[in-house]
Amino acid sequence: MQALVWEAPRVMTLRECAVPEVQPGEVLIRVAYAGICGSELSGYLGHNALRVPPLVMGHEFAGEIVALGDGVQTRHPALAQGRMATVDPMIYCGTCEFCARRLNQLCANRRLVGAHRPGAFAEYVTVPAEMIFLLPAGMPARIGALAEPVACAARIGELASPVAGADVLIMGAGPIGLLALQVLRGHGAQRVFIADLDSARLAMAAELGGDVLDPRAVDVPQAVRQATGGRGVAVALDAVGTAATRKQCVAAARSAGTVILSGLHEETSAMPAADIIRREIVVRGSFCYTPANFAAALDLLARGVVRLAPWIVEAPLADGGQWFERLCATPGGVAKVLLVPGGA
Ligand SMILES: [Zn+2]
Ligand SMILES: [Zn+2]
Repeated sequence: MQALVWEAPRVMTLRECAVPEVQPGEVLIRVAYAGICGSELSGYLGHNALRVPPLVMGHEFAGEIVALGDGVQTRHPALAQGRMATVDPMIYCGTCEFCARRLNQLCANRRLVGAHRPGAFAEYVTVPAEMIFLLPAGMPARIGALAEPVACAARIGELASPVAGADVLIMGAGPIGLLALQVLRGHGAQRVFIADLDSARLAMAAELGGDVLDPRAVDVPQAVRQATGGRGVAVALDAVGTAATRKQCVAAARSAGTVILSGLHEETSAMPAADIIRREIVVRGSFCYTPANFAAALDLLARGVVRLAPWIVEAPLADGGQWFERLCATPGGVAKVLLVPGGA
């Protein structure tokens, strides 16, 4: 089979590889679409200790079940050859303290498809049967491939709630920012302010109902305070992860408000601790998703609550390296690139 192999920082090569053997309890999937994730861009540049070359990345995908390993049929009777599925790529142990609390994304033994084991930038990928989510009837595979980033946004929406009638701010109009915007609106948020340095991304955010702010033209926290009668927003989400955007979220949050950090651009950054203390701001991380968030994501996609069309680009797997380069430089009006094994 053909697989896109990350071989060194900024080196991504299409190679002929063996089709992975299906282990007991696992399922072989023929990949239909696999999305490129922002975390993989930093991996591609070599800025991410999680990913070590040579590696086949790819954890946002959908495809067809083509083979079942020993024991799968009896334990998972719904899984069958020919069914279309997506995959929760955050494999968990199911037995640790956090798995017991259904916070499987915090599992001490978690292993990510496309980082700890070969991923979906290939014609075929194997995954444990428990991680499979069958696509709802009628859902195209290209929509099912969005379930993973939508699940991240569903987790953010869960942690931000209740937001009905409240104003919120999102720093960053990348895929997670754009999806969180729609999820928060779905939860009844009144106004969703959203800031990004890229005008093409702001245009997408505006079309999805965001109140857009250009940080080069306005001071974002000041603009948010002006628009909210001086109070600030109930929830500020940082979907970038720089010192500047983290600080802007605190400054824009109202007293006793919540700042949610999901962007991972910088490992550490200075935070205005005294302001957080004196205004009793809750700062909390949001990491990936629980299995319940993943199921909710498929439902949000099925009901059309969230979308990234018409800003999805489909590209042949062979062009993956070029797209990694382009997304690292100037993504422009592209919300998600879906790689298609065997051509687009
Ligand atoms: Zn991802
Ligand atoms: Zn666990």
